[in-house]
Amino acid sequence: MELNDYQNDIVTFDLFGERCGTQQIDMAFLDKVLGLTGEAGEVADKVKKLIRDKDGKISEADRKFLSLELGDLLWYLATCARYLGLSLEDVANANLGKLSSRLERDMIGGAGDER
Ligand SMILES: [Mg+2]
Repeated sequence: MELNDYQNDIVTFDLFGERCGTQQIDMAFLDKVLGLTGEAGEVADKVKKLIRDKDGKISEADRKFLSLELGDLLWYLATCARYLGLSLEDVANANLGKLSSRLERDMIGGAGDER
């Protein structure tokens, strides 16, 4: 599946699915941004519990759980991008370009968005 196909297919599951190109933050967009951080928190919490309770070992059930949570995260990411009028492929390509530039300049390590 192509990233943009996924992004188009999930519109069905968004109560405000036809929205695109948001010009200002409103409750619908804020709902998606908070959902993005909430799902990231679910992944982090699961990993925390794997470390705390299972010595960091990941079972197949754990892997399946994490896969579903990463899917939730992807849904919110794709929806946030769509609200901003961005395609997932554009977001992915821009990220790849940024990382490639950092690698070429030996700047993968360190901190700061503008390096
Ligand atoms: Mg979830």
